Amino acid sequence: MIFEGLADKLQDTFDKLRGKGKLSEKDVKSALREVKLALLEADVNFKVVKNFISDIEERAVGKEVMDSLTPAQQVIKIVNEELTDLMGGTQSKLSIASDPPTVIMLVGLQGAGKTTTVGKLAKHLHKNGRRPLLVAGDVYRPAAIKQLQVLGERLDQPVFSMGDKQDPVDIAKAGVSHAESNGRDVVIIDTAGRLHIDEELMGELKDIKAAVNPQEILLVVDAMTGQDAVNVAESFDDALGVDGITLTKLDGDARGGAALSIRKVTGRPIKFVGTGEKLDDLEPFHPDRMASRILGMGDMLSLIEKAEENIDAEKAKELEEKLRKEEFTLDDFLDQMSQIRNMGPLDQIMDMIPGMGKIKQLDNLDMGEEHLDQIEAIISSMTTEEKRDPSIINGSRRRRIANGSGTEVQDVNRLLKQFKQAQKMMKQLNDMQQGMGGGGGGL
Ligand code: GDP
Repeated sequence: MIFEGLADKLQDTFDKLRGKGKLSEKDVKSALREVKLALLEADVNFKVVKNFISDIEERAVGKEVMDSLTPAQQVIKIVNEELTDLMGGTQSKLSIASDPPTVIMLVGLQGAGKTTTVGKLAKHLHKNGRRPLLVAGDVYRPAAIKQLQVLGERLDQPVFSMGDKQDPVDIAKAGVSHAESNGRDVVIIDTAGRLHIDEELMGELKDIKAAVNPQEILLVVDAMTGQDAVNVAESFDDALGVDGITLTKLDGDARGGAALSIRKVTGRPIKFVGTGEKLDDLEPFHPDRMASRILGMGDMLSLIEKAEENIDAEKAKELEEKLRKEEFTLDDFLDQMSQIRNMGPLDQIMDMIPGMGKIKQLDNLDMGEEHLDQIEAIISSMTTEEKRDPSIINGSRRRRIANGSGTEVQDVNRLLKQFKQAQKMMKQLNDMQQGMGGGGGGL
């Protein structure tokens, strides 16, 4: 899970603070000491941590906070604001040319996730009404061109390639002309990486930059490499100049050191984060939402956006209706589980719901393929009446259902328990959305 260790520690610290009511300067200072340790353990750059803590302390140890009615909330609010600021404050979007095509050049070390990100970005831009052209400029990594062509086919978007015998500068130039003459309004150029930064690589990237004059040089770095990612970003920025950063593999980064340091150290904004290997696993980076997620306050806006992209609006309306009338059945549960599964791994989704991060740890709702198959088998072994009103499912019915579905009674028990939890969670989500003005079309 993203920022797991850090989020747990910060949330524990603030739970303690909340439990205190009145706060002394000593309470706040000791909480901030814990925050500092948690950040250092998360591999955040030392200088960044020092400044961050002293900025918070300056704001939080004042009379205004101490004497307020909810001092702990005030401290958390300050931490939230400073954390947001640490990651850049507001969202930084891609620069789009007023006169198309917009040229975006992806750079980074080998294995950082460049080629994958070209595909993800093409999908993202296409969803937003653009007509991307993918340009295969990595002529050194043996499988890179093929990989991009496969991605292009899957996305049904064109890929421009001149094989691996041509100069990448010529390929980039020809790619841009091809986009111009074929009405493609965004050119995404995949470039070669190396295992380490070297002059030859930088020289080539500079030549491409000079030849196609990109609106956006997007650096792709691997979040799992922590402070190395920050160093790589500094070097690329010094040598080439970058406009934004895509931080990949955040799904595997339990610490979060790169995400929390890179903006302050390099001055360059994170524009996207990669959260998985699939083409949908790219999120525009919102510092404020990420800060809320880290502090366990959830991220309803991202969740609603994901839901809008992945969930059938008609079905959602039906479901909302059912929830209101309390007619949500096990069939709906099954349907719902597969729809939610389309949104991504459940643990990532739970992190976006306020307060759910903790519940998730307790219940460990398994959403793997096999498990879903099992659930489907169990639900299909129930009678219509049982599906509508699971409270009638007594011991002998449970045994019959288990036999019918080739499972054990405890599997049936677990499913019934999960169903109850889901009902509760959906109700909570529904109430919450109504509280937010009813946006998002329901879940
Ligand atoms: P390149 O050498 O920079 O072009 O790297 P690739 O695009 O080939 O990616 C290297 C590996 O990282 C591949 O196995 C990708 O599937 C994987 N990868 C890329 N982005 C992500 C991400 O956000 N999350 C995860 N888990 N894997 C990723």
